Amino acid sequence: MKGGEVQANWKGLSEEIMQGMAEWRAQHPKATFREIEAEIDERLSALRAQMISDTAMASAQAEWEAGAMGVVCPKCGEKLEKKGKKKRKLETQGGRQVELIREYGVCPKCGQGIFPPG
Ligand SMILES: [Zn+2]
Repeated sequence: MKGGEVQANWKGLSEEIMQGMAEWRAQHPKATFREIEAEIDERLSALRAQMISDTAMASAQAEWEAGAMGVVCPKCGEKLEKKGKKKRKLETQGGRQVELIREYGVCPKCGQGIFPPG
């Protein structure tokens, strides 16, 4: 995804959250402060997870493209060989699963495999 598409996607998600929250508010007119807070946290965590995922993938891409040396092994400094894109699942602080599709690199010397920038 290009920068503009990513932003449009975030904007769309934000609008869905705001719309959804307005509907929730109409259905729960007597919600307590805690209930409102929990509902907003839950909805925002979806946007947060998407933003983390998109940003982390962009920064991984930038890491591979940076400099002629590319990405080197943190242990021996050998240039990593690209081994294709792999999925990696991470969990955000909000407990959401984020799936990152990133280039995976393996060190030809020690066999260490990493997803830069880590
Ligand atoms: Zn190595």
